[in-house]
Amino acid sequence: MADTPIPLEVRNIKKRFGDTEVLKGLSLEARKGDVITLIGASGSGKSTFLRCMNLLEQPDEGDLIVHGEEIRFKQTKHGREPADWKQVVRMRAKLSMVFQSFNLWSHMTLLENVIEAPIHVLGKPKKEAIEHARALLERVGLTARADAYPAQMSGGQQQRGAIARALAMDPEVMLFDEPTSALDPELVGDVLKVMRDLAVEGRTMVVVTHEMGFARDVSSQVIYLHQGLVEEAGPPQDVLVNPASPRLKQFLAPKY
Ligand code: ADP
Ligand code: MG
Repeated sequence: MADTPIPLEVRNIKKRFGDTEVLKGLSLEARKGDVITLIGASGSGKSTFLRCMNLLEQPDEGDLIVHGEEIRFKQTKHGREPADWKQVVRMRAKLSMVFQSFNLWSHMTLLENVIEAPIHVLGKPKKEAIEHARALLERVGLTARADAYPAQMSGGQQQRGAIARALAMDPEVMLFDEPTSALDPELVGDVLKVMRDLAVEGRTMVVVTHEMGFARDVSSQVIYLHQGLVEEAGPPQDVLVNPASPRLKQFLAPKY
């Protein structure tokens, strides 16, 4: 039998906004169970890179292969676009994203948020979706908040709810864009704990983060971006503990 497909391969992605090339050729390979963390200064292209992975931004060049399926593009007068949006919908169901701003739908309860996509995108029966959702809410410590609306929840609860919602799609890869950056400091730990558990259980993850302790402990690979290029990449004990690049050394130096 063939090996299971690689969850996510990204090859030589380039992206420009107007005259500025913000991604200058970035590649990444997330094998099953990999936790890849992306670090770098503000504006280095971390979010754009992540958004190109699930086509919230359209890369101008480069290839995306999701679970062995290459995304097809076509050239239009507006630039490059996916050739088949149905394929994009299918691939997005395999790549769940968790954003910095915990973007649960405000008009739905937490439970409704978690069952929405499994029912409407995956076509799961409602009863099954609810059972799965309750199990996920328990895992992220939110059993008691199932019927709460996002506005009634703390930021940390909302973010754990967003993680449960992402998990409900049973994704191949979870993409996180600074999931703890908008949280009050005392709420960061609970969210990181949930993410550490996901890493330990072998979830494939790509995480943009400034939490260096998390990056050091759980990453299989750390990628340091500088101005849209990989400046240094490797296992955390090299990149974070013995960085070669002077720029990275400075980036990692304690600020106070
Ligand atoms: P990071 O997440 O590392 O802070 P971003 O990917 O958000 O970096 O941004 C990289 C660069 O691209 C920045 O210079 C930013 O201003 C620019 N940029 C990001 N999104 C857009 C956009 N939609 N339009 C124009 N410029 C953008
Ligand atoms: Mg960003």
